[in-house]
Amino acid sequence: MLSVWESTSFHGRPHLAVIGGGIVGLFSALFHKRAHPSHRVVVVERGVYPSGASVKNAGFACFGSPSELLADRAKEGEDAMLLRVEERWRGLQELRQELGDAVIGFEPSGGHEIYRVGDALYPPVSHGFDDLNTALRPIFGRPVFTWRNDLIAHFGSKGVEHLAYTDLEGPIDTGRMMRALLRKVAEAGVEFRPSSLVKRLEDRGTHVELELADGTALAADQVLVATNGYTSALLPDLDVVPARGQVVLTKPVPGLALRGTFHLDEGFYYFREYQGAVLLGGGRNLDVTGETTMEDGVTDGIQTALHALLRDVILPGTPFSIAQRWSGVMGFGTDSKSPLIQRHSERVGVAVRLGGMGVAIGIRVARSAAAMMKA
Ligand SMILES: Cc1cc2nc3c(=O)[nH]c(=O)nc-3n(C[C@H](O)[C@H](O)[C@H](O)COP(=O)(O)OP(=O)(O)OC[C@H]3O[C@@H](n4cnc5c(N)ncnc54)[C@H](O)[C@@H]3O)c2cc1C
Repeated sequence: MLSVWESTSFHGRPHLAVIGGGIVGLFSALFHKRAHPSHRVVVVERGVYPSGASVKNAGFACFGSPSELLADRAKEGEDAMLLRVEERWRGLQELRQELGDAVIGFEPSGGHEIYRVGDALYPPVSHGFDDLNTALRPIFGRPVFTWRNDLIAHFGSKGVEHLAYTDLEGPIDTGRMMRALLRKVAEAGVEFRPSSLVKRLEDRGTHVELELADGTALAADQVLVATNGYTSALLPDLDVVPARGQVVLTKPVPGLALRGTFHLDEGFYYFREYQGAVLLGGGRNLDVTGETTMEDGVTDGIQTALHALLRDVILPGTPFSIAQRWSGVMGFGTDSKSPLIQRHSERVGVAVRLGGMGVAIGIRVARSAAAMMKA
């Protein structure tokens, strides 16, 4: 028994329902609402607040380390690698402009890639380094990476022989970024519907029907699926493979000298300072099969590897303890590193498969998704 107020104000059919309130879903809703102020736009989110990778990540505002970019170039060719870097770089500028550096806690403290003694990655990176800077010049207008081995001693790490630096990266505060985005979306008039797990969706030709886990249904003119690593639960025909990433945060370490973002092993490990503590993530490559999951959780094998990295390389000789452990789920393509932005049916679009770079490309993926839904 609905009142007239409920049925007109709360049960009116949205022009657009976005499934998933992460960085992509929220920005897509925002851009659609800006383009169509009179449209009713609803973000349907399973968590009480955004609960995917957008609130679980490491907060690196980055566009790729030298070893990752050179590996991409070797695999896919220079044009594909450059296109991806440009998207990431433009995305970061747009994100910072849209929400503001102070609000998202962006620190322009630089990005570092470290190479340990005997690191097999170093020789090819050293060999391709100048070439990479030359290739990147049209995007950045200047050299991007420099060798800064002088910084190694400053950070107190052990067993590190080489360090490549860029002043163009830095960390953000992911939580503050997502809160600011939620505020912005609400101010624009987008409705956020939390605790609403979508179990099934069906394009019925005239509208799309969403079946929710609480037994209710929601009909919308159009639906955008922005569920990233969780997409196969709704649309199993799409090539989106869940990929869990594990993270640890130490308790504050007195005298910690780390600043900026750090990558090693082609980006499989990454660490940074957060409020005087070390945040370290990675190790997925140690158990790719086990980490191909949508389940939250940490495993002994990967946690042991992260602990060893802290003990032997990042904080050698410094006592530390772990304050928090968590995981997040990314969405990858089987062979592609590109996001999937396409219509799934007449009234259903998808904007998923952000890989490990959604902070950088999320806003641009959302812009394309919103433009696609407008058509
Ligand atoms: C550990 C880790 C570290 C990372 N570090 C970085 C980094 O430093 N820099 C960077 O650029 N990127 C990083 N990433 C990647 C980045 O976080 C993601 O690419 C980005 O957040 C993806 O955003 P999204 O909106 O597509 O997905 P998500 O943030 O995952 O959003 C999907 C949303 O959909 C909701 N949802 C799912 N299924 C349903 C359903 N059936 N019904 C309703 N709601 C649903 C989820 O709760 C979630 O809120 C990292 C990721 C992880 C896991």
